Parts: sequence; structure tokens; C-alpha cells
Amino acid sequence: MLRFLRAYAQNFLNSRLMDERRSLPPALISEFAEAGLLGLQVPRELGGQNLSHTDMNQVFTQLGAIDANLAIFCAVHNTLGIAPILFSATDEVKSCVLPRLATGQALTTSAISEPGIGSHVRGMTTRATRHPDGSYTIKGVKKWISLGGDARYVNVFAGLRDEHGRSLGITGFLVDSRTPGFGIGPEMLTLGLRAVPQYDLTFDNLRVPPSALLGAEGDGLTTAKAAFMGGRAVLASMTMGAAMRSLELAQRFTKGREVATGSLAENGRIREVLAEAGAAIQAVETLTSRIATWRDEGQDVPEAWYFCAKILGCELGWKAIDMALQVLGARGFLDTNTVGQHFRDYRLFRIFEGSTEAITVYLGTTLVRHPDQFAKLVHQTRPAATVLRLIDQVAEIGADRPDDAAAQHMHAAVVGELVCWTLLAMVTSQAEAESPMHGYTAAWTEHQLQQRLRNAQLGFRRSLPTVTEFDDHVAAFAGVIGDVDQRRWPAEEWRADPLLR
Ligand SMILES: Cc1cc2nc3c(=O)[nH]c(=O)nc-3n(C[C@H](O)[C@H](O)[C@H](O)COP(=O)(O)OP(=O)(O)OC[C@H]3O[C@@H](n4cnc5c(N)ncnc54)[C@H](O)[C@@H]3O)c2cc1C
Repeated sequence: MLRFLRAYAQNFLNSRLMDERRSLPPALISEFAEAGLLGLQVPRELGGQNLSHTDMNQVFTQLGAIDANLAIFCAVHNTLGIAPILFSATDEVKSCVLPRLATGQALTTSAISEPGIGSHVRGMTTRATRHPDGSYTIKGVKKWISLGGDARYVNVFAGLRDEHGRSLGITGFLVDSRTPGFGIGPEMLTLGLRAVPQYDLTFDNLRVPPSALLGAEGDGLTTAKAAFMGGRAVLASMTMGAAMRSLELAQRFTKGREVATGSLAENGRIREVLAEAGAAIQAVETLTSRIATWRDEGQDVPEAWYFCAKILGCELGWKAIDMALQVLGARGFLDTNTVGQHFRDYRLFRIFEGSTEAITVYLGTTLVRHPDQFAKLVHQTRPAATVLRLIDQVAEIGADRPDDAAAQHMHAAVVGELVCWTLLAMVTSQAEAESPMHGYTAAWTEHQLQQRLRNAQLGFRRSLPTVTEFDDHVAAFAGVIGDVDQRRWPAEEWRADPLLR
């Protein structure tokens, strides 16, 4: 697969054209299916590749380095789409659907987000109702669904009610998009990832049979979590591929470039920013490969590890891409430069499948409420003694929970971030003897943790402006910049989003 992807990139791919046309090349689906890329973890007897998590990481790092559109296309199909079916559909449904998906005869995705909810999944308003004959009807609207207009099978998550209107909890359903009542809304014109379109989906009393159920009634969030946690680690692997590619180009450039101090490659400041990006990439790689190894060994991996991979993988990876763009100077700003395209495409990764802020606050809140879970995480690896001392200080900050709600959110964000850096420092400290670069990476990661700890200990004593005070402050901008809302763009969706009016 890796060989296929490298040859495909060199000989057939034109990322620029794909971006411009906002679509994947027509032959891509069948070629990717033939190479096994559409059934990465589907069992062999159902037409898939049955890849280990370690191998899957490698495939996604490769895809991520080539083009985020290809990577997201494969990730949506394999992790958002196939994984919930693999975990939770009946054997009969699996044997009917999975061979079709693995061989590219059909695509699949998941629909969770709605116009009114994104990060707050429990607030979803799409409703499913169970009928006496065991079938269900689904009614509601989903938004931003990648491949939503192309997928034959969509995992739809909805709040289920029984025949008497009693709530049974969020439940997953495998919906065939050919079912009457399945509607496809307009394509979203996104800033990046232009070749993998997103659509609104509407379900107008769409009826599905009992076999459409994914897992048990009310267990939808368990199904979604089981599938999407792995997806979060995959996002980190893709971002690392793009960050590696960007750093490779930046390093090449510095070697040939003369600046006022001489060779750019010899400039201390530039060596420092490049080395830091290299350390960030190596740290996240160490983390994702550790998670994959644990999963391949059948170990239970607490969700904090996946959150850490998603948060730091996507944040540090994008920062490394931004750094490469900066080092490339004007060349970095060219739209025809791979690094510029990565910069645009990978910006999304900090937002979707749990935005950094939402999952950092969630992680921090969980660990503040259940400090025993933090202790368990620490026992999962045997970190260096210096890191162990820092871990005690992180636990102290976690225990110091404020009373006020807004202060609690800020405290949870600090704790969540500290926990992520703690986990990264734990895995990198274990690998520090492997090479001089691993030694640098371990020291850099520990330093990042120390800096954040110091910030947290120092605190910021000034209270926030109230929402009204800040609202008044921003409202006064109109006096400076006036009303500049553009009313319409011909031939495009022109109404302003109600939340932006
Ligand atoms: C290109 C693209 C593809 C997508 N594909 C899919 C798909 O295939 N299937 C699908 O179901 N969805 C998909 N989505 C939706 C995506 O998962 C959501 O956009 C994402 O979860 C964020 O939700 P939102 O946009 O409603 O942001 P909101 O939930 O409105 O959050 C806005 C911002 O508020 C902050 N925030 C939110 N919650 C908290 C919190 N608890 N604490 C602190 N700060 C917080 C964060 O900064 C966040 O970015 C896609 C989106 C895009 C742009």
C-alpha cells in the first residue's frame, strides 16, 4: 500500500487540480479499492486487509504526507464509516455491507453534527422513534457530513424514543441513502480539504428496519466513542505525515538558501525552530505508535491517550506546518506550494472530531472529578524520575478546583493541557536513549511541560471582563469599522449564517 501510494503521488496525482476542481479524480475510488485502502481493518474473509493499528498508522501517515484530501477520504470511509459497522452491526449486516465497502462498490460515513450542535453531541435533536413492529423512523437534520452526498451507507446518530415517547438515549442506525426520506442539502464551500465535500443531510420520517440498529438501543455514544477514539489517533498520524513533509521541504530550502548571516541552515534561530518542529513530530509519533502497540496487544487504552493524540497531534502538527511555511519565506505563501496547501487543509484538524478547546476542557474536567484516573494513566508507562516529580505538581494543580463556573472551565482547560503534556513527556522520556534526536525530543517535551506548569502555578489574577462588558467593547468596533456585512454573492449560498448575523 505504501509503495502504491508513493507511485500514485509521483505519477498520477495533481493536488492543485483536485483543490481547484473541488473533487477527487474519477478513477481514484476504484484504484484505492484495488490497493486495499477502502477496507483497511475489515476482516480478510469480508474482502478487507485486516491491518493492525500499527500498520494503519503508517498508511495514514503516508496519506497525510501526500494530500489531506486523500487522507480524509480514507479516514472518513474507514474510521467514521466502517468502524461503527464493524463494532456494532449484526453479523448479517456486516457480511452484506462490509465486502461492498472494502471493495469500493459503496462509500460510508457518519452523521453526528447538526446545525445546532457540534461539540455538544448529547444536545442532538435528530429523533428516532421505535414502532411496534420493531422498525424505526428518523427525523432531523445533520450538517457538515463528509461524503454525505456520496456515501451509500450513513451511520446516523439520533435520540431514540419508544412507542410511548419515552427517551431511550442516543442510538446509532445504519441508513441506506437510497431509502425514501433521505435528503441531501447543499455542499459547504470549505476553506481547505476542498476535494472531500461536506453536505447537509435531512431525514424526513425515514424508515429503517430493526437490523439497522448499530449496537443496543441507547448505546449510540458507546458505539460512536469506540469508533471515533481510534479515529482521533489516526488524525494525529495524518497530521504527522504532513508535518514531516513540510519539515522536509523547509530543511531542503534552508540548505540552499543564503541570508544575511550566511547559510540559512546554519543560522542558530532557524536551527532551533526546525529542531523544535522535529521534536514535536517525533514526540507525537512516539505517542501514536505507543497507542497503536497497546491496541495491537489487546490492552485497554484509556480515552485520555486518544484525546492527547488528537489535541497535541493536531495542534503541534499544524504549528510545524506553519513554521515550515514561515521558513520558506515568500515561497511558503504560494498557493502552488504543498506546504501552503497543508497549512489550509490541516487547519481543520484542530476543529473537527472534537475541537481542541472542547476536548481539553472535557479531559480536564474528567480528571479533576476522578483524580484516580490520572494516577492510573501514570502507571501505564514507567517515566523518568524527573517527569514523575512534575506529575505530582500536575496532580496538585488538578486538586485546586475553583467554585465559579467560568473559573472551572479555565481550570479544566489548564489541567487538560497539562495532562496531555504529561502523557507526552512520559512516552518521550522512555524513548530518550534511542538516538540523539530522541534525547533532544525528551528534553524539549519535558521543558514544554515545565513551562506550562510554571504558568499554571503563576496564575493570572485579574478576573475576566463580564460577558456584557466585553459585548459592549466589541459593539463599539462598529464605530471604527462600520457595517461591512456583504449581502450576497451571485451563484453561491449567500445568506449569512444566523449565528453570524
Ligand atoms: C470539513 C468538515 C468536515 C466535517 N465532517 C463531519 C462528518 O463527517 N460528520 C459529522 O458528524 N461532523 C462533521 N463535521 C462537523 C465537525 O465535527 C464539527 O464542526 C465540530 O465538532 C465542531 O462543532 P461546531 O462547528 O458546531 O462547533 P461548536 O460546537 O459550535 O464550537 C465552536 C467552538 O467553541 C469552542 N468550544 C466548543 N465546546 C467547548 C467547550 N466545551 N469548552 C470550551 N470551548 C468549547 C471551540 O473553540 C469550538 O471550536 C465536519 C466539519 C467540517 C468543517
